[in-house]
Amino acid sequence: EPGLVVVGASLAGLRAVEAARRAGYGGAITLIGAEPHLPYDRPPLSKTFLTGDAEATYYLGEDILSRDLSVDLRLGVTARALAPQARTVITDVGPVPYRRLLVATGAHARTLAHLPALDGVWTLRTLDDATALRASLRGAADVVVVGAGFIGAEIASSARAGGARVTIVEAAAVPLVRAVGEVVGRVLSTVHERHGTRLLCGTTVEELIGDGHVRGVRLSTGEVLRADAVVVGVGAAPATQWLKTSGIVLDPRDGGVVCDEYLESSIPGVYAAGDVAHWPNGLFEGDDTMRLENWTNAASQAAHAAENTVRPDRRRPYETVPYFWSDWYGQRIQFVGTADADDVSVVGGGGPDEDSDHLVALYRRGDRLVGAATLNEPRKIMKYRRFIAERGLWSAAETAIPA
Ligand code: FAD
Repeated sequence: EPGLVVVGASLAGLRAVEAARRAGYGGAITLIGAEPHLPYDRPPLSKTFLTGDAEATYYLGEDILSRDLSVDLRLGVTARALAPQARTVITDVGPVPYRRLLVATGAHARTLAHLPALDGVWTLRTLDDATALRASLRGAADVVVVGAGFIGAEIASSARAGGARVTIVEAAAVPLVRAVGEVVGRVLSTVHERHGTRLLCGTTVEELIGDGHVRGVRLSTGEVLRADAVVVGVGAAPATQWLKTSGIVLDPRDGGVVCDEYLESSIPGVYAAGDVAHWPNGLFEGDDTMRLENWTNAASQAAHAAENTVRPDRRRPYETVPYFWSDWYGQRIQFVGTADADDVSVVGGGGPDEDSDHLVALYRRGDRLVGAATLNEPRKIMKYRRFIAERGLWSAAETAIPA
């Protein structure tokens, strides 16, 4: 009797199978994952794992998954195609029939296709990537990070902690504009320079120099930088190659799985959650669909999707105030809501100074508060998150939560 099949055995896949059991689902569950590892925590991979201060963190032991949750765990197995007529996932080791399907295949690191493959050039998404990168950074005197997004910034910070000279090369004039807007992007870019990382904006890598192993990069400015290691952090793309022939609707911009408010895709009975999924987030009416790439959403969205999957008669729309954090040079950056705003006001902290970095910035759209960014203000951010969840008015925000 085919049951619930979950493709992708990372955070979203794991939270989905847990939630299905919690919701009382007693049928068969199969969890298929391409990586050979049990589900593990990705955020430390660019932070404490990379600096050698922590080892991999697995969420659950295999015995809990297989015995207590009664999950048929298929690790090292890759889904190659979906045949919706036959309700079957085609994997590299054979077909897996399903009654209900949850797509939780996340995202993979984008690469720079125009550059040749040289040793010492890395992307970072998986535990295996992080293990290889960590070894490469050990003893690297000069490191070039391509991309000043959150992952690039964290890798730069970790490489600095290891004593390397680090340069970040960023194509945009201001980093992180899509994630946090221009005002906060500018403030955050100053954090790098003050911790000894060189940040070159409006610059691209034109050429990798080296023979076998990378030795340097040539920039669009003509400058040549030495590099013992180059890390490409230019974003992630939904892992949906395997769905291309299924007829499922994918977002034309990034290939993510397009879902409705219940997280159901265009194929009935097929749901999606986590980094792979687009859906209309009802909290921000008028918005296009959202696709989030953060830990908190992957966990809660997948639990929600699993409940909707196994209790189709009691489905609820999924709404969330997005939340993510990032750690650079011992500084904690946090963001709630959306940066897609009419304007942004810095209401606290005023930005970084010599020895203590503090910032509170608020995002207004119409008459509502829709977002908040903080630097080293961990207690405030969750208050803003609740305020936004309650559709709080912009005019009331400063009284409700004094900066
Ligand atoms: P993923 O974690 O990408 O997992 C998808 C899984 O599906 C993978 O194991 C993949 O191998 C598997 N898969 C893909 N295709 C197939 C297939 N065809 N068949 C079988 N299996 C397949 N978020 C934060 O909020 N804060 C942070 O500080 C933070 N730091 C991060 C640092 C790093 C280095 C990375 C990579 C991410 C970080 N994130 C952070 C983001 C967060 O980790 C992701 O949002 C989260 O992992 C998404 O979970 P997911 O299960 O949707 O996808």
